[in-house]
Amino acid sequence: MGVLKRYGEYLPVTEKTPAVNLEEGSTPLVRLGRIGSDLGIELWGKLEGCNPTGSFKDRGMVLAVAKALEDGAKAFVCASTGNTSASAAAYAARVGAPCYVLLPSGKVAMGKLAQSLMYGAKVIAVDGNFDRTLEMAREASAKYGFAIVNSINPYRLISQRTGAWEICESLGDAPDMHAIPVGNAGNISAYWAGYREFHKRGRSKKLPRMMGFQAEGASPLVTGKECPNPETVATAIRIGNPVSANLAREAARESGGEFNSVTDAEILDAQRVLASKCGIFAEPASCAPLAGLIKLKRSGRLPEGSKVVMVLTGNGLKDPDTALSQVEKPVSIGGTMEDLIEAIRL
Ligand SMILES: *Cc1c(COP(=O)(O)O)cnc(C)c1O
Repeated sequence: MGVLKRYGEYLPVTEKTPAVNLEEGSTPLVRLGRIGSDLGIELWGKLEGCNPTGSFKDRGMVLAVAKALEDGAKAFVCASTGNTSASAAAYAARVGAPCYVLLPSGKVAMGKLAQSLMYGAKVIAVDGNFDRTLEMAREASAKYGFAIVNSINPYRLISQRTGAWEICESLGDAPDMHAIPVGNAGNISAYWAGYREFHKRGRSKKLPRMMGFQAEGASPLVTGKECPNPETVATAIRIGNPVSANLAREAARESGGEFNSVTDAEILDAQRVLASKCGIFAEPASCAPLAGLIKLKRSGRLPEGSKVVMVLTGNGLKDPDTALSQVEKPVSIGGTMEDLIEAIRL
């Protein structure tokens, strides 16, 4: 039914707010039994790749776009590592407004680029990293009066809390541990605010430990210092100076959680494990938490039997190049049964 409808009573939605809806949210929460038993935990995956544009960004974008329209916005702008732009472009198309998308040139996964172009956004590739594109988007917003729909837009995080509410409703309570990839650190902050809100309203009894995972080459929250040249195969979390760093640190501190980093090789291994053991294809950034849980298990820091939810933030189909670089090529054969029998080699 879309998050504005499902959770309207908990969101800043009034009679004046346009009812924007792409049926986002209400994503599956899937028990990952095989990996969970390997890790000695009860593991669940929240399949955010099932959102309409294939990532969790839709949860926040729908409210950001609705509130901007309510305030009279005529056009949208965003800087993006890919998924924010895909989502902004889709919702702008939905409401018939132009959308300007600033991307760090050459660093955006192919599927995400195809989405933004297909939805009809004006896509501008900037010779700079994400942090620079964000500065430029802010300036364009001030200069032209475009509504900026990056996570500095407060409605994004407000509406991303819905993910935590869905988890609490599905499980009947919050989990013991919430594992999530961290880039600009908005989502971990939104989930923590969501869990706290449900707890305060008496809708859940527990509060989870918030475990944030970054890529080693872009891990300012782990090292404690800004990362001027972030580098990782997980482009969605290739961010050196997270916008919501302070909120995220608070979430980890208040919940007894922590930040950890994982290497690109560990991320890509985790991506293959998730796909081949559970049938779930998630993009590289989404697999940082699984890589991190495997690492915690190895160092004996993953409490046996705990109930853990991982947010699988984006769909694997968005980045086919990275996936294809990690697997064997298809076997090519001629068109006879002998060829096939040879290839199957039972
Ligand atoms: C945006 C994004 C992230 C990072 O979320 P933040 O709120 O920036 O920390 C992680 N994974 C995917 C797939 C994303 O699109």
